[in-house]
Amino acid sequence: MSVSRRNFLKRAVKGGAAAAAAACTTVAGAPEPANALQREPKPLAPEAVGLLYDSTLCIGCKACMSACKESNHMPQEVGPDQPWNDTRQWDTPVELSAKTLNVIKVYTDGNATQKDHEKDGFAFLKRQCLHCTDPSCVSVCPVSAMTKDKTSGIVSHNPDACIGCRYCVLSCPFGVPKYDYNDAFGQIHKCQLCKHKLAENQLPGCADVCPTGATLFGKTPDLLAEAKRRTALKPGEYAHYPRGDINGHVGGARDGHEKRVEVAYQSHIYGERELGGTQCLSVSAVPFDKLNLPTNVPEYGYPTLSEGIQHTLYAGMVGPAAVLGGLVYFAHRNTKDQHDPD
Ligand code: SF4
Ligand code: SF4
Ligand code: SF4
Repeated sequence: MSVSRRNFLKRAVKGGAAAAAAACTTVAGAPEPANALQREPKPLAPEAVGLLYDSTLCIGCKACMSACKESNHMPQEVGPDQPWNDTRQWDTPVELSAKTLNVIKVYTDGNATQKDHEKDGFAFLKRQCLHCTDPSCVSVCPVSAMTKDKTSGIVSHNPDACIGCRYCVLSCPFGVPKYDYNDAFGQIHKCQLCKHKLAENQLPGCADVCPTGATLFGKTPDLLAEAKRRTALKPGEYAHYPRGDINGHVGGARDGHEKRVEVAYQSHIYGERELGGTQCLSVSAVPFDKLNLPTNVPEYGYPTLSEGIQHTLYAGMVGPAAVLGGLVYFAHRNTKDQHDPD
């Protein structure tokens, strides 16, 4: 069947415009979570592991910070307000950095005398990579230097592949990956759940040394069930709190301990739903917005939207590409007609 140049142009321009319009109008109306542009959320990895941090159990001893440094061969760091030669200080960074992958922070209000009270109280928070189920850092990395293990779901970083673009730094909703500006070749640093220790059936450093079980290692579904058990407890009740690995498989079995619940837990389990869920979860008696964790975030991971839009745009480019191809073909044919002596 022969198609005239006029008809071809008409059809191609129509098709291209329709495809481009579809892409543009849907992009403009994209923010709704149920948007047709979103790709399916990624499921939890089959053997997903993580940590459960219980702020009510945390005593702020920072043993986990020291163990983290030791486990990952990171140097000690002096906080910004401390003179570099203050020998009384040791290992006291106040925020995540290229040298600190795990930090215990403190919330205070009023006279800060009552533990786990929002008013006139104080509470601790552990900051580290949450090992997102659908991580932005992995989605934006142009060279696949940031990867998520298909089995364990651990998000890790390959320094040999990294080109130092820092897209992962900008994209992480939790401000986790840090770029080392003091390294001539630059490097990204973040918690990798001590995967080198897990490979030897050892616990991540932080969970290994935590004296109270405030940092507990385990499979994410087990940790979520444990978090639900705790958040249902009432003040005055006694509960058993395990330490180390919730199932006692990694790092050997350890004794847990009984403890009276002093203050009601928030029902909110941080990481259960935020941004598509995270493999590291937190529970607390103080609301998470007070602990400086982002709470005004959607329940879908940002990559479901950004990757969905990207794919739609690529699909929308098929029409314009066809138009361009047709124009090139006819321009070439006309030029050939003009130069052909016959
Ligand atoms: S918390 Fe940030 S660095 Fe960690 S997996 Fe999620 S997006 Fe990546
Ligand atoms: S899992 Fe390892 S790297 Fe991550 S916070 Fe704990 S000790 Fe640090
Ligand atoms: S080791 Fe445990 S109790 Fe001590 S600061 Fe870390 S999480 Fe809290």
